[in-house]
Amino acid sequence: MKRSALSIADLVAACNNEMKEVICNGIKDYDAIMTLVKSAMTGAMTVDELGRAIRPHIEFTESQREEAHKYYKKRRKDYLKKYIESGMSKETAGKKAEKEALARKATYEGQLHRWRAFDIACTEMAYAANSKNEEITRQWINEGSLPSDTRRRWSSSADRETCKVCRALDGVTVGMDESFPGGVTLPPVHPNCRCAVAYVFD
Ligand SMILES: [Zn+2]
Repeated sequence: MKRSALSIADLVAACNNEMKEVICNGIKDYDAIMTLVKSAMTGAMTVDELGRAIRPHIEFTESQREEAHKYYKKRRKDYLKKYIESGMSKETAGKKAEKEALARKATYEGQLHRWRAFDIACTEMAYAANSKNEEITRQWINEGSLPSDTRRRWSSSADRETCKVCRALDGVTVGMDESFPGGVTLPPVHPNCRCAVAYVFD
């Protein structure tokens, strides 16, 4: 029992650190992103629009650069094989493959950058929404509209797309000032996490 509880905490902590990598790496202007998120929270922007708006504020990261380079090498190899098989000289095929692969790489880089901006938009929106709920709940507890023993229960969507970390957290209940296993205080625990917190009392 203790072992499995520990492994959930480790899993959650690892997952959450990974998310922080995505969210915090290569950010040029975090304040600008937060201003945009706040504006999106008022309904001024959809998540798609938010993703587009934050793109200029994020850099291409080292791991994305590596991924794009791997993609380029694979494409270049494929093109080279294709052109040589079609009867082109090795030199012409090499030049042509290089050119095509570079063009494909540029498109892929744009895609990676867009995906990451969208991941950040979704994650920041989820975090802002969960933080807002938490803030309101704490206010209600302070005002006496909710019992002082109100607790927080992790609530995942528990459907086919729910990952094993969120599934493990589903239903875990902690006090208002405690964190969830792995030291997480609020969802999201990974990019595109759809979890929320339910506030429960007896
Ligand atoms: Zn989740």
